[in-house]
Amino acid sequence: MNIIQRLIPVSNTATRPGLALVPKFITIHETDNTGTGADAAAHARLQQRGNDRAASWHLQIDDHEIIQSIPFDEVAWAAGDGRNGPGNRTSIHIEMCVNADANYEQMVSKTVEVVQYLMSRYSISIDHIVPHKHWTGKNCPRNLLPRWDGFIKRCQGLGTKDGWVQNDAQWFFYKNSSKQTGWVKVKSKWYFLDANGVMQTGWVKDENKWYFLDSNGVMQSGWVKVKDKWYYLARDGAMVTGWVKYKSKWYFLKENGEMAIGWIKDKDKWYYLDPDGSMVSGKQTISGKAYTFGKDGALIEEEVPAAGGYTGDDSGGNGEGDPPAGDTSGKGDGSSTGGDNTPSDGENTSNNQDGPAS
Ligand SMILES: [Zn+2]
Repeated sequence: MNIIQRLIPVSNTATRPGLALVPKFITIHETDNTGTGADAAAHARLQQRGNDRAASWHLQIDDHEIIQSIPFDEVAWAAGDGRNGPGNRTSIHIEMCVNADANYEQMVSKTVEVVQYLMSRYSISIDHIVPHKHWTGKNCPRNLLPRWDGFIKRCQGLGTKDGWVQNDAQWFFYKNSSKQTGWVKVKSKWYFLDANGVMQTGWVKDENKWYFLDSNGVMQSGWVKVKDKWYYLARDGAMVTGWVKYKSKWYFLKENGEMAIGWIKDKDKWYYLDPDGSMVSGKQTISGKAYTFGKDGALIEEEVPAAGGYTGDDSGGNGEGDPPAGDTSGKGDGSSTGGDNTPSDGENTSNNQDGPAS
């Protein structure tokens, strides 16, 4: 914020009386001059060369300049409440330019900045920011009066915040100036803000369910691939575990949400999942051995694969070598704890959906 000084000559005592002012108020006016070019520079020139009315003010503001005509510790004749009126004697006066060739909203924003600066500099409280009308009843500032409360909120540092606000590389979301937390829906997309209001990305846990937010914070649904593992998120975004049917094929999501491939054991039955995660059925040759699976995908146990549950990684079940043998991996019957890069605190053990036999 830059305040340009173009002071009225001290010799012009009609408009710059030189009376001491200790600012207790800030009074807002509008020039009521909508003419093209009636900007801050024009009003400052008028004051400098000698206004033919005995009227003056400290600052004039348009959409690109803030110009000072009288020091803040001297009285200006702006309130219209008389030589000893409190409006004249206790207030700094700001004229907001309303020239048609300027952007009114930008001018108001500049004025807000100036008011905040003066409030801080002179320890003026918000209830001492007043419209000209406060002193004499004049309809001034004409355009701002109908939205005065909003203006005051902005001067308080409120009301300017709505929507996304970035601060130190973190994103926050405001509604009516209040910082939001938890889930927010913005333009039909869901976002999750932590207890401090910070927008989250990646995995988040809420009420015992996991959700995945992309790098823009948008909640995902359906299949997502995270660090080379596939996960399935329900329509409400919650990470699914157990069996899931997708486009008439069955998939199995481990307890940590990772899509399983290769052999798995579920409720004492063996199943085999192709490298794309889909469950096989019927006669299959896996790693050079013939197996028969029922329509429900369960292995018909002529020949038990003697496997230890999930093969767990991408190399499993790809037809190399034997079926997973032995249980040295400790990953048997669905108790996999998975990798270190996924939600894997292992709390959700009971929400497997019904198996494909149903
Ligand atoms: Zn006024």
